[in-house]
Amino acid sequence: MSRDASIKAFEEAQSLIPGGVNSPVRAFKSVGGTPLFITEGEGAYLTDIDGNKYIDFVQSWGPLLFGHRDETIEKAVIEAVKHGLSFGAPTLAETELAKLVISFFDSMDKVRFVSSGTEAVMSAIRLARGFTGRDDIVKFTGCYHGHSDSLLVQAGSGAATFGNPSSPGVPADFTKHTLLAEYNNIESVKKCFNDSQTIACVIIEPIAGNMGLVPADKEFLHALRELCDANGTLLIFDEVMSGFRASVNGAESLTGVKPDIVTLGKVIGGGMPVGAFGARAEIMSKLSPEGPVYQAGTLSGNPVAMAAGFAALTKLKQNARVISVLEERAKRLVEGMQEAASACGITMQIDVRGSMFGFFFNEKPVKNFADACNSDAELFAKFHSGMLNEGFYFACSLYETGFISTAITDEMIEETIKASAKVLKEISNG
Ligand SMILES: *Cc1c(COP(=O)(O)O)cnc(C)c1O
Repeated sequence: MSRDASIKAFEEAQSLIPGGVNSPVRAFKSVGGTPLFITEGEGAYLTDIDGNKYIDFVQSWGPLLFGHRDETIEKAVIEAVKHGLSFGAPTLAETELAKLVISFFDSMDKVRFVSSGTEAVMSAIRLARGFTGRDDIVKFTGCYHGHSDSLLVQAGSGAATFGNPSSPGVPADFTKHTLLAEYNNIESVKKCFNDSQTIACVIIEPIAGNMGLVPADKEFLHALRELCDANGTLLIFDEVMSGFRASVNGAESLTGVKPDIVTLGKVIGGGMPVGAFGARAEIMSKLSPEGPVYQAGTLSGNPVAMAAGFAALTKLKQNARVISVLEERAKRLVEGMQEAASACGITMQIDVRGSMFGFFFNEKPVKNFADACNSDAELFAKFHSGMLNEGFYFACSLYETGFISTAITDEMIEETIKASAKVLKEISNG
C-alpha cells in the first residue's frame, strides 16, 4: 500500500500550516507515520489521495452517524444551498431544528445554536456563571471541553497526546477559577466544594470520550447531582460527543440523572459545523438578548448547517432503534478484538455505549485518566499502524473513542476482527 502522495502532501502542508493540520489530533503524532490526505468518503469507506480505501471508524471524530455521503443529508444540504448560504437573519430552519433538538432532551426548554462544540461549552459556562453569580467551575481530569482558555486544564486526548495538558498562552489568572477533580471519584469533588463556596457549575462528559471511552458510573453521577443541588451549583453535561451517539435521548436517559445544561455538537450538524447548548427556560432566559449574559455569532444558525442537522436528527428520530443496532455491532467488534488479543496473551479492556466503542491495551479496568495513561501506548501505535496497512482507519491516539456508523455492516465488523487477529499475532510474534 503506497502512501507517497500523502507523504508529499503532508510535507507541503507542514510548510504552510503549523504541523500540517488544522486540528492537532489529525497529525498522527502519537502513533508515528503520516496522516492520510483524504479525497473522498462514501458510506463506510474513506479514500486517500494515493487511491487506498479504508473502512472508517473515526467518522470525522463523531459527527457522521449515518456514514459518508448519506443521501438524505446530502439532498437537504444541496437544497438549502440553492436558497443562499447565509443571511444573518432568522430562518425557519433554526426554529425547526430547535424544536427537534429540544424534543430529544427532557432537561431542555430552549436551545441556542453556535458553530462548534468549543463555542457551545464556552457559552454554557458563561451562562452558568451569569445565572449563579459565581466564578468557580469544576472540571474533571481527562475530560475535554473544547479549547477555550478556562477549560484547557488537564484536558485529555489532543492535549494528553502531546503531554501538554495546560497550554502556554493561557494565563494562570484565567484558570484560577477552574478546580480539578478526578473522574468517577466523588471524594475529589467533595474536596472542591470544601475548597470553594462559589462554584457556579460542575462540567462533565457523562460518557467520557476524550481519554478513550470511559463512561461515568451511575452512582457517581447521582452523587454529583446531589452535591450540586446541596450547593446551588449547576450541573453541565457536555454531550458534544456522546449526544445522539451513546443514546437517542442523552446521558440522562441512560443514567436517570438530569443535568441543568446540556452542550451538543458533532452529530447535531450531520457533518456541518453546528454546536448547541440548552437548558430549562429559567436558565436560558438569562441569555442575550432576552437576558444580560452575552453570546453571539455571525454564522450561528447557518441555514445550510441547520439543514444538514435537521436531516440527520430527523433520520435518527424516525429510526431511534438504530442506536441499539449499532451498539450490538460495536459490542461484537470490541469483543472480537478482545478475543483475538487474548489469544496472543494480550489483555484488552473494552467498553461500548451506543455507537461509541473503546479499547485499551491495559491489564486493569479504566475508570479515570490516570488509569487510561497506564495503557500500553507502544502496542497501540503498532496496532494502529498494522490496521491501517490492512485498510482499517482507527483514531490515531489511544485517548480517542471509536465510532460505528450505519454504513458499517456486520460483514465489515467480521473483516475488522479478522484483520485485528492477524495484526495482533504479527505484533506478538515480534
Ligand atoms: C469535540 C468535543 C468538544 C469540542 O467540540 P469542537 O467542535 O471540536 O469545538 C467539546 N466537548 C466534547 C466532549 C467533545 O468531544
